[in-house]
Amino acid sequence: MTIAELLQSATEANHLSDSPRLDCELLLCFVLGVSASYSKTWPERQVSDDQSAQFNALLERRITGEPVAYLIGSQGFWSLDLEVSPATLIPRPETELLVEVALELSLPDQASVLDLGTGTGAIALALATERNNWKVCAVDLQQQAVDLAERNRQRYQLDNIRLFASNWFAAIPAQHFDLIVSNPPYIEANDPHLSQGDVRFEPASALVSGDDGLDDLRLVCAQGVDYLADGGWLLLEHGFDQGGAVRQLLEQAGFTSVTTHSDLNDLERLTQGRYKFPSA
Ligand code: GLN
Repeated sequence: MTIAELLQSATEANHLSDSPRLDCELLLCFVLGVSASYSKTWPERQVSDDQSAQFNALLERRITGEPVAYLIGSQGFWSLDLEVSPATLIPRPETELLVEVALELSLPDQASVLDLGTGTGAIALALATERNNWKVCAVDLQQQAVDLAERNRQRYQLDNIRLFASNWFAAIPAQHFDLIVSNPPYIEANDPHLSQGDVRFEPASALVSGDDGLDDLRLVCAQGVDYLADGGWLLLEHGFDQGGAVRQLLEQAGFTSVTTHSDLNDLERLTQGRYKFPSA
């Protein structure tokens, strides 16, 4: 069979997701050991029986709902191709907005940045690639996530990131960062979406945060002020219906210039606040 034939029959025969063709292309290119554009460039190439058996085995798993990113072990984020694993969340396109907004903040040339709950390292790595002068510290509760992020760091040979395990601020030495970013868990414990789609395969510890989804956001807002420089920023991703709550948490903690940004679906997704030292 050719690439084109295999892709067409696989895409038509299965209800995989909202993007069946793309899913099949990614799985097949992974099996062939080629980059994702190959199937478009060489549709007439033959696929061996062995390769098509491997492809079908992955397709079966995809049909049961396993995310493509876990099946192929990688996910594109920003300009990077990141290794992913079921130890942590798959980077989402919405989170690229956080990177964009962070890069536009007014910050010193040699800003010190903290990424809390880094997972694959997505946000930290994207910021570190864009700003060689920034010094990025990135932590995660899970040692497995730290190890994964470290492999991603090595893949891009970024020497301006330091990674280690920490339960939020617990293991971070006292210091004042110019910017703290986080995409913490923010889903409500009994949200019905947790039993649908990709999130079923992701660790609850990276998704769920108490009954109202705000436990970790509350902690980061309250403790963040102790780790920010005068005029430093806290920038947080949150659920589409949590904008009001996060603005309130930031204001209660003493932040000013509190602003929310909407994502491409026009949903409130990110809120930032600036912390000024109280005048004596
Ligand atoms: N945005 C993710 C989702 O809804 C959740 C990510 C998170 O909890 N940080 O699937």
